[in-house]
Amino acid sequence: MQFDALIIGGGSAGMSCALVLGSAQPKLFAATKRIGIIAHQKTSHLQTALFNNVLGLKPGTLGSDILENGKAQLKDLYPHVQQIEKEKVTVITKTTEGFTITTNKNTYQTKLAIITVGYTSLLTIKGFEDHIEPHPRAAAEKDRIWLKNENHLIEDGLYVAGTLAGWRSQFAIACGSGAQVATDIFSLWNDGIHTKIHDKISG
Ligand SMILES: Cc1cc2nc3c(=O)[nH]c(=O)nc-3n(C[C@H](O)[C@H](O)[C@H](O)COP(=O)(O)OP(=O)(O)OC[C@H]3O[C@@H](n4cnc5c(N)ncnc54)[C@H](O)[C@@H]3O)c2cc1C
Repeated sequence: MQFDALIIGGGSAGMSCALVLGSAQPKLFAATKRIGIIAHQKTSHLQTALFNNVLGLKPGTLGSDILENGKAQLKDLYPHVQQIEKEKVTVITKTTEGFTITTNKNTYQTKLAIITVGYTSLLTIKGFEDHIEPHPRAAAEKDRIWLKNENHLIEDGLYVAGTLAGWRSQFAIACGSGAQVATDIFSLWNDGIHTKIHDKISG
Protein backbone atom coordinates (compact mmCIF):
# COMPACT_ATOMS: atom_id res chain seq x y z
CA MET A 1 0.00 0.00 0.00
CA GLN A 2 1.70 3.23 -1.07
CA PHE A 3 -0.54 5.71 0.72
CA ASP A 4 -2.75 5.82 3.77
CA ALA A 5 -4.55 8.84 2.29
CA LEU A 6 -4.32 10.17 -1.24
CA ILE A 7 -6.01 13.44 -2.25
CA ILE A 8 -7.02 13.87 -5.87
CA GLY A 9 -6.95 17.46 -7.10
CA GLY A 10 -4.85 20.46 -6.00
CA GLY A 11 -7.49 23.23 -5.91
CA SER A 12 -9.16 24.88 -2.90
CA ALA A 13 -10.56 21.77 -1.21
CA GLY A 14 -7.62 19.51 -2.09
CA MET A 15 -4.86 21.86 -0.91
CA SER A 16 -6.78 22.72 2.25
CA CYS A 17 -7.27 19.02 3.02
CA ALA A 18 -3.55 18.37 2.40
CA LEU A 19 -2.42 21.19 4.71
CA VAL A 20 -4.63 20.07 7.57
CA LEU A 21 -3.71 16.39 7.12
CA GLY A 22 -0.03 17.33 6.97
CA SER A 23 -0.24 19.39 10.16
CA ALA A 24 -1.03 16.31 12.27
CA GLN A 25 2.38 14.67 11.88
CA PRO A 26 3.57 15.46 15.45
CA LYS A 27 0.62 13.44 16.79
CA LEU A 28 1.19 9.75 17.43
CA PHE A 29 -1.90 8.67 15.47
CA ALA A 30 -0.60 10.38 12.30
CA ALA A 31 3.17 10.09 12.68
CA THR A 32 3.64 7.18 10.29
CA LYS A 33 0.81 7.91 7.87
CA ARG A 34 1.76 8.22 4.23
CA ILE A 35 -0.13 11.12 2.72
CA GLY A 36 -0.10 12.25 -0.90
CA ILE A 37 -1.82 14.71 -3.20
CA ILE A 38 -2.17 14.54 -6.93
CA ALA A 39 -1.63 18.29 -7.11
CA HIS A 40 -3.15 18.95 -10.53
CA GLN A 41 -4.08 22.67 -10.67
CA LYS A 42 -4.52 23.43 -14.34
CA THR A 43 -8.32 23.41 -14.32
CA SER A 44 -8.89 24.84 -10.82
CA HIS A 45 -11.51 27.57 -10.65
CA LEU A 46 -8.89 29.47 -8.71
CA GLN A 47 -6.92 30.01 -11.92
CA THR A 48 -9.15 32.91 -12.99
CA ALA A 49 -10.56 34.01 -9.63
CA LEU A 50 -10.00 37.38 -7.94
CA PHE A 51 -10.79 37.62 -4.23
CA ASN A 52 -12.23 40.60 -2.36
CA ASN A 53 -14.74 38.84 -0.10
CA VAL A 54 -12.72 36.25 1.83
CA LEU A 55 -11.86 36.78 5.48
CA GLY A 56 -8.08 36.83 5.96
CA LEU A 57 -7.22 37.32 2.27
CA LYS A 58 -5.99 40.75 1.22
CA PRO A 59 -8.55 42.27 -1.22
CA GLY A 60 -7.34 41.77 -4.79
CA THR A 61 -5.67 38.43 -4.06
CA LEU A 62 -5.41 36.28 -7.19
CA GLY A 63 -6.53 32.68 -7.14
CA SER A 64 -3.52 31.73 -9.25
CA ASP A 65 -1.25 33.04 -6.46
CA ILE A 66 -3.20 31.03 -3.88
CA LEU A 67 -2.54 27.88 -5.94
CA GLU A 68 1.20 28.56 -6.25
CA ASN A 69 1.64 29.69 -2.64
CA GLY A 70 -0.40 26.77 -1.35
CA LYS A 71 2.00 24.27 -2.90
CA ALA A 72 5.00 26.14 -1.45
CA GLN A 73 3.34 26.28 2.00
CA LEU A 74 2.69 22.53 1.90
CA LYS A 75 6.26 21.80 0.82
CA ASP A 76 7.84 24.10 3.43
CA LEU A 77 5.73 23.17 6.44
CA TYR A 78 4.74 19.57 5.77
CA PRO A 79 7.27 18.08 3.33
CA HIS A 80 6.23 14.54 4.28
CA VAL A 81 3.06 15.12 2.22
CA GLN A 82 4.06 13.87 -1.21
CA GLN A 83 3.03 16.26 -3.98
CA ILE A 84 2.56 14.44 -7.26
CA GLU A 85 2.95 16.85 -10.16
CA LYS A 86 1.96 16.76 -13.82
CA GLU A 87 -0.43 13.83 -13.44
CA LYS A 88 -4.15 13.61 -13.96
CA VAL A 89 -6.37 10.84 -12.60
CA THR A 90 -8.16 8.78 -15.22
CA VAL A 91 -9.61 5.82 -13.28
CA ILE A 92 -10.40 4.98 -9.64
CA THR A 93 -11.15 1.37 -8.73
CA LYS A 94 -11.96 -0.34 -5.45
CA THR A 95 -9.63 -3.04 -4.13
CA THR A 96 -9.83 -5.30 -1.08
CA GLU A 97 -7.61 -2.90 0.94
CA GLY A 98 -8.66 0.45 -0.48
CA PHE A 99 -8.40 1.98 -3.92
CA THR A 100 -6.23 1.92 -7.01
CA ILE A 101 -5.74 5.39 -8.46
CA THR A 102 -4.64 5.38 -12.08
CA THR A 103 -3.22 8.54 -13.65
CA ASN A 104 -2.00 9.29 -17.16
CA LYS A 105 1.48 8.22 -15.97
CA ASN A 106 1.31 5.98 -12.88
CA THR A 107 -0.75 3.74 -10.63
CA TYR A 108 -1.07 4.27 -6.87
CA GLN A 109 -2.59 2.23 -4.06
CA THR A 110 -4.25 4.01 -1.16
CA LYS A 111 -6.32 3.02 1.85
CA LEU A 112 -8.31 6.28 1.79
CA ALA A 113 -9.05 8.42 -1.28
CA ILE A 114 -10.33 12.01 -1.23
CA ILE A 115 -11.76 13.30 -4.51
CA THR A 116 -11.66 17.11 -4.91
CA VAL A 117 -11.72 17.62 -8.67
CA GLY A 118 -14.46 20.28 -8.74
CA TYR A 119 -18.06 20.13 -9.91
CA THR A 120 -17.28 20.27 -13.63
CA SER A 121 -14.32 17.90 -14.06
CA LEU A 122 -15.24 14.48 -12.78
CA LEU A 123 -16.62 13.09 -16.00
CA THR A 124 -13.06 12.49 -17.21
CA ILE A 125 -12.47 10.01 -14.36
CA LYS A 126 -13.86 6.51 -14.81
CA GLY A 127 -15.37 4.52 -11.94
CA PHE A 128 -18.06 6.90 -10.66
CA GLU A 129 -20.84 6.67 -13.15
CA ASP A 130 -23.29 5.38 -10.49
CA HIS A 131 -22.59 8.20 -8.01
CA ILE A 132 -22.93 11.23 -10.29
CA GLU A 133 -26.07 13.37 -9.97
CA PRO A 134 -27.04 16.94 -10.89
CA HIS A 135 -25.55 19.38 -8.34
CA PRO A 136 -28.12 20.15 -5.60
CA ARG A 137 -26.94 23.73 -4.98
CA ALA A 138 -26.12 25.15 -8.42
CA ALA A 139 -28.27 26.69 -11.17
CA ALA A 140 -29.65 23.88 -13.35
CA GLU A 141 -28.58 25.55 -16.63
CA LYS A 142 -24.92 25.37 -15.52
CA ASP A 143 -24.98 21.55 -15.68
CA ARG A 144 -22.90 21.13 -12.52
CA ILE A 145 -22.56 17.70 -10.88
CA TRP A 146 -21.97 16.27 -7.42
CA LEU A 147 -20.92 12.89 -6.15
CA LYS A 148 -23.75 11.73 -3.94
CA ASN A 149 -22.40 11.51 -0.40
CA GLU A 150 -23.32 11.69 3.25
CA ASN A 151 -21.15 14.07 5.27
CA HIS A 152 -18.48 13.85 2.53
CA LEU A 153 -18.40 10.05 2.60
CA ILE A 154 -19.34 8.20 -0.60
CA GLU A 155 -18.54 4.78 0.80
CA ASP A 156 -16.07 3.38 3.34
CA GLY A 157 -12.67 4.98 2.70
CA LEU A 158 -13.84 7.13 -0.18
CA TYR A 159 -14.42 10.85 0.47
CA VAL A 160 -15.40 13.81 -1.71
CA ALA A 161 -14.73 17.46 -0.82
CA GLY A 162 -15.33 20.93 -2.25
CA THR A 163 -17.89 21.85 -4.88
CA LEU A 164 -18.05 18.24 -6.06
CA ALA A 165 -19.35 17.30 -2.60
CA GLY A 166 -22.46 19.39 -3.28
CA TRP A 167 -21.40 22.69 -1.67
CA ARG A 168 -21.89 26.11 -3.27
CA SER A 169 -18.95 27.61 -5.08
CA GLN A 170 -17.32 29.94 -2.55
CA PHE A 171 -13.64 29.65 -1.74
CA ALA A 172 -14.14 29.50 2.04
CA ILE A 173 -16.75 26.76 1.73
CA ALA A 174 -14.47 24.62 -0.49
CA CYS A 175 -11.52 25.07 1.88
CA GLY A 176 -13.74 24.28 4.86
CA SER A 177 -15.01 21.15 3.18
CA GLY A 178 -11.43 19.92 2.59
CA ALA A 179 -10.52 20.70 6.20
CA GLN A 180 -13.63 18.88 7.43
CA VAL A 181 -12.64 15.72 5.56
CA ALA A 182 -9.10 15.95 6.99
CA THR A 183 -10.45 16.11 10.54
CA ASP A 184 -12.85 13.24 9.84
CA ILE A 185 -9.81 11.21 8.78
CA PHE A 186 -7.99 12.20 11.99
CA SER A 187 -10.90 10.88 13.99
CA LEU A 188 -10.77 7.65 12.00
CA TRP A 189 -7.01 7.29 12.58
CA ASN A 190 -7.39 8.28 16.25
CA ASP A 191 -9.73 5.43 17.24
CA GLY A 192 -12.93 7.43 16.73
CA ILE A 193 -11.93 10.30 19.03
CA HIS A 194 -12.94 13.68 17.55
CA THR A 195 -9.64 15.37 16.70
CA LYS A 196 -8.42 18.70 15.33
CA ILE A 197 -5.00 20.30 15.04
CA HIS A 198 -4.51 23.86 16.36
CA ASP A 199 -1.27 25.81 16.65
CA LYS A 200 -1.09 28.55 19.27
CA ILE A 201 1.28 31.27 20.36
CA SER A 202 3.50 30.27 23.22
CA GLY A 203 3.82 32.12 26.55
C1 LIG B 1 -13.82 33.45 -12.17
C2 LIG B 1 -14.07 32.96 -10.76
C3 LIG B 1 -14.13 33.90 -9.73
C4 LIG B 1 -14.36 33.47 -8.42
N1 LIG B 1 -14.44 34.41 -7.42
C5 LIG B 1 -14.72 34.03 -6.17
C6 LIG B 1 -14.83 35.00 -5.14
O1 LIG B 1 -14.70 36.20 -5.37
N2 LIG B 1 -15.08 34.54 -3.88
C7 LIG B 1 -15.24 33.22 -3.56
O2 LIG B 1 -15.43 32.89 -2.41
N3 LIG B 1 -15.14 32.28 -4.54
C8 LIG B 1 -14.90 32.65 -5.82
N4 LIG B 1 -14.80 31.71 -6.82
C9 LIG B 1 -15.09 30.29 -6.49
C10 LIG B 1 -13.89 29.47 -6.00
O3 LIG B 1 -12.80 29.63 -6.85
C11 LIG B 1 -14.35 28.00 -5.97
O4 LIG B 1 -15.45 27.91 -5.07
C12 LIG B 1 -13.31 27.01 -5.48
O5 LIG B 1 -12.12 27.11 -6.21
C13 LIG B 1 -13.87 25.58 -5.61
O6 LIG B 1 -12.92 24.69 -5.07
P1 LIG B 1 -12.87 23.14 -5.45
O7 LIG B 1 -11.74 22.57 -4.67
O8 LIG B 1 -14.21 22.55 -5.33
O9 LIG B 1 -12.51 23.14 -7.02
P2 LIG B 1 -11.23 23.69 -7.77
O10 LIG B 1 -10.56 24.78 -7.01
O11 LIG B 1 -11.67 23.98 -9.16
O12 LIG B 1 -10.23 22.45 -7.72
C14 LIG B 1 -10.40 21.27 -8.47
C15 LIG B 1 -8.99 20.73 -8.75
O13 LIG B 1 -9.05 19.43 -9.29
C16 LIG B 1 -8.07 19.32 -10.33
N5 LIG B 1 -8.49 18.24 -11.24
C17 LIG B 1 -9.49 18.25 -12.14
N6 LIG B 1 -9.56 17.05 -12.78
C18 LIG B 1 -8.59 16.27 -12.23
C19 LIG B 1 -8.17 14.94 -12.45
N7 LIG B 1 -8.76 14.15 -13.36
N8 LIG B 1 -7.12 14.46 -11.72
C20 LIG B 1 -6.52 15.24 -10.78
N9 LIG B 1 -6.89 16.52 -10.54
C21 LIG B 1 -7.91 17.02 -11.24
C22 LIG B 1 -8.07 20.71 -10.99
O14 LIG B 1 -6.91 20.99 -11.72
C23 LIG B 1 -8.21 21.60 -9.75
O15 LIG B 1 -6.97 21.96 -9.20
C24 LIG B 1 -14.54 32.10 -8.13
C25 LIG B 1 -14.46 31.18 -9.18
C26 LIG B 1 -14.23 31.60 -10.47
C27 LIG B 1 -14.19 30.58 -11.59
